[in-house]
Parts: sequence; C-alpha cells; structure tokens
Amino acid sequence: MSKQQRIYRFGADEQGRDVTEGASSMNFVLGGKGANLAEMARIGLPVPPGFTITCQTCVEYSEAGNTWPEGVIDEIAAAEADLERRMGKRLGDPTDPLLVSVRSGAPFSMPGMMDTVLNLGLNDDSVQGLIAQTGNARFAWDSYRRFIQMFSDVVLGVDAELFENAITAKKLVAGVRNDSDLAAEDLEELVAEFKQIFSEHVSAAEHPELVVDGAVTFPTDPALQLRLAIQAVFGSWMNERAILYRKQNNIPDDLGTAVNVQVMVFGNKGETSATGVAFTRNPADGTKEFYGDFLVNAQGEDVVAGIRNTEPISDLKTVEGLQEAGAELERVFTILENHYRDMCDIEFTIEQGRLWMLQTRVGKRTATAALKIAIEMVGEGLITREEAVRRIDPGQLDQLLHPQFDANAELDILARGLNASPGAAVGEIVFSSDDAVARAAEGHPVVLVRWETNPDDLKGMVAAEGVLTSHGGKTSHAAVIARGMGTPCVCGVESFRIDAANKEVRVAGTDIVLHEGDIISIDGATGIVVQGAVPLVSAELTGDLETILTWADEVRLSEENGAPCHVRVNADNPADAQLALDFGAEAIGLCRTEHMFLGERKNIIQTYILSDDDAERQTALDELLRVQTEDFVQMLRTMTGRAMVIRLIDPPLHEFLDDPRALDVKIARLEAEGAAADEIAAAKARLRRIDAMTEANPMLGLRGVRLSVVYPDLPLMQVRAITTATAQLIKEGFDPKPEIMVPLVAITAEHVQTREVIEQVIAEVSEATGVALDIPVGTMLELPRACLVADEIARHAEFFCFGTNDLTQTTFGFSRDDAEAKFIPIYLHRKILKTNPFETIDDAVLELVRMAVEKGRAANPDMHFGVCGEHGGDPASIEKFFNVAGVDYVSCSPYRVPVARLAAAHAKLKR
Ligand code: PEP
Ligand code: MG
Repeated sequence: MSKQQRIYRFGADEQGRDVTEGASSMNFVLGGKGANLAEMARIGLPVPPGFTITCQTCVEYSEAGNTWPEGVIDEIAAAEADLERRMGKRLGDPTDPLLVSVRSGAPFSMPGMMDTVLNLGLNDDSVQGLIAQTGNARFAWDSYRRFIQMFSDVVLGVDAELFENAITAKKLVAGVRNDSDLAAEDLEELVAEFKQIFSEHVSAAEHPELVVDGAVTFPTDPALQLRLAIQAVFGSWMNERAILYRKQNNIPDDLGTAVNVQVMVFGNKGETSATGVAFTRNPADGTKEFYGDFLVNAQGEDVVAGIRNTEPISDLKTVEGLQEAGAELERVFTILENHYRDMCDIEFTIEQGRLWMLQTRVGKRTATAALKIAIEMVGEGLITREEAVRRIDPGQLDQLLHPQFDANAELDILARGLNASPGAAVGEIVFSSDDAVARAAEGHPVVLVRWETNPDDLKGMVAAEGVLTSHGGKTSHAAVIARGMGTPCVCGVESFRIDAANKEVRVAGTDIVLHEGDIISIDGATGIVVQGAVPLVSAELTGDLETILTWADEVRLSEENGAPCHVRVNADNPADAQLALDFGAEAIGLCRTEHMFLGERKNIIQTYILSDDDAERQTALDELLRVQTEDFVQMLRTMTGRAMVIRLIDPPLHEFLDDPRALDVKIARLEAEGAAADEIAAAKARLRRIDAMTEANPMLGLRGVRLSVVYPDLPLMQVRAITTATAQLIKEGFDPKPEIMVPLVAITAEHVQTREVIEQVIAEVSEATGVALDIPVGTMLELPRACLVADEIARHAEFFCFGTNDLTQTTFGFSRDDAEAKFIPIYLHRKILKTNPFETIDDAVLELVRMAVEKGRAANPDMHFGVCGEHGGDPASIEKFFNVAGVDYVSCSPYRVPVARLAAAHAKLKR
C-alpha cells in the first residue's frame, strides 16, 4: 500500500510555474482554507506560495497522544526546504529572511476557534535582514514583537495581557496614544521585554527544548519555531472553545485540522499596504455589492479583532497608492463568483501596492441574504432553481421567522451601531460570557454587551438573546459568529463607553449610565439600540421566502423521482389553521381535540368527569357537544376542500382536573378561615375523587383509545360533533374533509371495537341529517406493539399517522416529560446518544415506522401514511421519514411549516 501523502504544495515555484497539488474538492484532506488556497492558485489568482499538512496528520498526531507520527518531522523539513528553494530565501537568514504564517484550517469553517501564528522565522539575526531588505526598521521590529507576542500566547499559553500591559506602559513612557505611533527604538525595547516575559512565564520543566544555558529562552531556531507552531495548531483542534463550537454546529470531532504554512505578505509595510476581509455580496441582506472592511498599514488580525475601526471596502479604490490593487480585487471578486458559482468570503493583503489572496470560501450568510443571493443567481444564469432550493438550509429559515421590533412601537433610540445580524432581541445587560450563561440559566433573557467579542465568548453568545459590541465592523468576530448562529447582533456602537470591570456603560453625548441587569432592546437588522423593552412581533412570509418556497413546492410535489412529499400542520383552532394555510400547509395532519377543552370549557368537562349525578353529567356532555360542533364547523370551514385529521380525546382525564396539592392547600385555608362545613365537605369530596383517578404512570395509563373503551360517551360525543358539523357544512355548500383518528392503539381489537361504534354514530347522523357521509377512520401509531401488528390493524384502517413523540417515549422507555431535563444532556455529553431522540428521529424508532408502513401498505394498498410528532418539523427527521420510511406527509406546528416545505423538497432532491 502506498503511503498517504501528508503534505501538499501550492503556489508558484522559483520559475513562476504553478506547482499546486491540491484542489477545492479536497476539503476533507486539506481543510477548507488549504483546499481553496490550492484552487485559487490553480485558477491563476495571486496566492503567496506555501504548503498544507493534511487533516489526517492532525488526527494521527492526536490519536498518538499528541506525539509526531513517524517521519512527519522529516517531511515538514523537506517541505520547508522546498519552499525556501521556490522563494530563493531562507527562514532565519540574517540578510534576506523568509517569513511564514502558520494557520489552522479545518474541513468546516470554524472562524477564530483555532490558532494562527504570523511572522514566523524572525530572531535577533533575521530581524536585521528584514531591516536591510525593507529599509524600514520600525516595520521589522513591529513584526518581531508581534511574532513573540502571538507565539507566546498561542503556542505556549503565556497570558496575552502581560504583553498588552507592556505595550501600554511603553506608550505612556513614549507619550503616544496609538500602537502605530511607537518608534522603532520603542519596539526594539519591547522585543527585549517580551522575551523577558517569555522566559519568566514558560515552565522549564514542561519545555526542556527551550532551555538554553539553564534558562528558558525564546526559540531562535526557525525549524523549532515551526515545529512548535504546527504542534500548537494541531493541539488547538481539541481546545475547549473549538470543541464547543463543533458541538454547536454538529461538526464531528474526528476530522482534524490541516495546517497551512505560507509565505508571509505584509499589510503593515506603510501607506501603500493594507489588509482586509470582504464578501463578494452583502452577507447580511444579500445585496449585490462588495462588502467588507480594510485597514491601511495593518496585519490581518487587526481587522477581525476590531481593535482599530476599519474602512468600508468600497473606499479601497479611492485610497492614494491602493487604487490599482483595489481595482484588481474587484476583478478577483468576479472571477471567484463565477468560478464557485456562489457568494465568496475572502481575506486579502496588499503589500506595497500588490494584491495577495490569503483565503476564500463560500461565505456564511443570514437567511435573508441566502434567499436573495440564490434567487438573484438564478436570474443571472449562474445556478438553476433546484440548486437555489438546495442551497437554502431549512434550519436557517427559523431566522426569518425571528421576532422584529413592532412597527407601531415608539422607539426612543439610545444609540446606533452596525446592523450585523438580523432579528430583534430584548434582555438584561450582561458584561461577560460567564454572567450571560449564569443569568440565562436562571431563565432571564440577556443581551451580551462587550467592547468586542473573542472566540472564548462563544458560550456567552449562545446563551444570549442578542449581542452588542462597541467596536469592530461587520466582519468582526461578533458579527460573523452571530450571523452563523442566527443571533441578533449590533456591533460598533461607538457611543457605548463600556466599563466591564465596574459593569456599567456610559452613553456618550448623554448622561445615561446603564448597569448590569438594565433592560435594552437591539435590532440587528437596523443597528438600533433602545433603552427598555420594545415589544416584538413575529415576521411574515413574503418576497424572497415565498419565491423559494414556491420553487421548493414544485420540487416536492412533482410526480417525478418518486412519490410527492406532502406537508400538513398540527392545528386545533381556526387561527392556527389559517396561519398554517398562509404558511403553505396542504391540510391538517393532527387536530388535538383535548386542546378544545381548555379555558372556560374546563368547568364543563370537570363536571362531566366528577359529578355523581347522571342528569348533570348528561347536561355537561350536551354542552360539550354543542361547543365542539361549533369548533368543528369553524375549523372544517377554514379547511374546506382540504383534509383534517381529528384525533379523539387522548390524555388521561385527570389532566383536566384541579391539582390535588392546590386543592389540599385550599381545604386547609377554608378550615383556617372557619368556612361553612358543607363547603369544606364538598372540597374534600372533590379531592377524594381526584385522588381516586390518580395513576402512578399516567403516560402509560388510562388514555388514548383506552378512554374510548372505558368511557365511550366522551369520544362518541366528539364523533357526533364532527359528523354533525360536516353534514351542516355540506348543506351550506362547503367541502369538509374530516378524517377521524384513534390514538394510542396497541391491540387490533381496540381499534376494531372503537371503529364499530364510530361507524354507528356516523350512520346515525347521516340518517338524521339526510347527508351521505364518507369519513375515513385511521389509527395513530405510537406504540411499538402497534407497529409490530401494523398489517392486522391496516385491514381496519384507512390511514396511519405516526405519533413519534409517544413512539420515542415507549421505544426507549424514556419519559417525554422528564428525560430531556434529567439525563439526555448527560447522554449527549457522554456520547451515549448522538442527538436528542425527541428532537431528531432515532434510527430504531424510524425502523419501527418504516416497518409499519411496509406492513400497512402490503395489507392495504389504498392506505396513506403520515407523521405528526414533533419530528415532523425537524429537517433531519423529515428527510428520513420520506426517503427511508416512505410516508406520504409530515405534519408540524404552523411556524415550522415553511421549514418542512423546504426540507421536504431537499428530501426529494436527495433521492
Ligand atoms: C405523538 O405522540 O407524537 C403525538 C403527536 O401525540 P401527542 O404529542 O399529542 O401525544
Ligand atoms: Mg401521542
């Protein structure tokens, strides 16, 4: 077997010929950054030469307990020598040194999560070579001090603040405000101080390789610098924030990261040098415009960290000395878009007027932007409609259904910043990620307010409703991460003078001081910040979303490529039914009738359940019949021409009764207050009846079809209400299509006997009204036994609808009410479970569904099949229901309907 290639070259050789070995298709080998650097080099874009060490090498390194696999160090040395030959320069050369960057790059983008070292190769000798070559001592010493600072922090974990403090002290002594005002001599002194900090804070015992003459010394040998930096990047794959980010984004832990070693180019070589981050289109709203920020005379991390305020990319062409490179960059934007047929995100550096591309990838975008870009690219002929549909992540649509500020609210605007990630958020101010996590865990919505965020803030950003920063542009860390997560974000709110240590913000130009716990509202779509809580409203389906969903419907409802994939809704009142129709639901897949017994109707059903008096019970039942008939008239009228699956009453009856504990308290109070004896006796009698109905395991108790067997009056009243409403509507000229569903069936005979009485009522009402009624009766399959005997049940049913909530509960034996709070998080953490089975369908539960569909279809070819558990709105589950289990429809809550329509189209495209 030939040995796997571990290192791939990219860029030109000494004669300017391209010697790139990788390509964009090699994402899982070279990581996103390495694969795309190779691709850009291949298509002739200016990429500084270098090489990529594969992700598999990182995996080998991690698996070997962070030790080098055999031969790798020699291979790296050979690649380094090759790069030196190609460049005609050597690392560490005292006359004309080569400098390199060492960057991570995983198969999936993990912005800012892993480590980078720049300016590697500098030491006391080569810094002199850099001065000689550039004639710029200030630049050379600045590069050197940045290298020591980054290397110490990233590779050896020396506290970054120690270096920042030294810089601040130096500025005070020099009497200057900005880092860029420090002179070459100041920076040279800083280099000496930094080396001292390094010696004092790195442990000799842990790093014997750094001990020279008995003391820890900053490494001068470039080969050692390189090896340590690569080791650090490999190690950063398993750092805490990277692990958390992967968990958040469902990225597997076993992919590893590649390492890119690339010749340095400098954006900090004076006024004709610059560095920037840009998108080929606006990633926040999708507008076709160049979008991003740059900084003159700066290095890359200055832009992303938001340390200096940046300038918009559209101004680049107007800067003296940068015009040509600016125009070239715009040409590159077009080349990249045409090549990738998608919006790209890039990093570039201009070194003394010459443009270099440091990174590109398909850019992350908000849901709004994703829709606009996909639709416009269809218009531009770059992609097809199907591709446009495929490109929208159904999970991301949630963002569009995000709340917005109520347009009627009076906004007393406190400040404005950049609209970095859309959606509105209201919450208490917190100033640190730890506080965000703690306060959110107590159930308080929070807005994380920071000067800027860094990768360690991820947990706080996850916990917060929204994020506000006072610094940084739209490509700052906060903006990129928030957009990816769909969290509202306003950044660059410059009037916020944040004092995180004292937990307060002074708002410039006002005498307002905000403290921790004060409520603010932010709108990430407009950049507006308001003191206090602004009322929020949910969004509507309009414009681009409508267009994409219409295209998605064409795909999922087409007869080509297998059966159509239908989407229904779970709704039990006319308002939800109407909302669902507006959202594009085709029918009602589940009407939970017990929801119709809440509110003031609770009294009626309580009387029915608790009364000893038959006449009183009959009156209650008649009253329930009257109100239920009205409910069904309204809903069936709303749904005229469309199916409506109505489930007979399902939960244990005591769910409609008072809480016995509350009743106990009430009795004690009545006694203490000396209430009338008969009042106390009545309350006690009521308590006894409720106690008598209590079950040890109500979820496994007298509920579902069992109620129809033991207390048939209630479900039969419901059937009468359904049929009466149907007959009335038919007479009025409507086209009602009810389907009656029997819940929680386990045994065929349960279904058969219940069906018999249902049919009787239908026949009676038909005769009484003179209207012919053809109402299908189906079974809700939500117990493993029912799935096992699905063929038997199918002979007596027109349809099956899978209640995957109960089916998951009973297949696992996990209580759906408790498991998610009590132990599923631990199971996920321990990797006993990969996903929460109540969220995404478990494969074993799916197998029960698949088997029951197969058995049912074989026994009764005219049947139809659906899913109406919560999983019916989960994109990952939807794909499996259609493509693995072979159901005809999924049914979900109204707000999930747009997501399900798109996910159903994806399922169809995936076939
Ligand atoms: C189910 O069990 O999946 C279902 C839809 O029914 P319910 O959630 O009402 O028990
Ligand atoms: Mg159920």
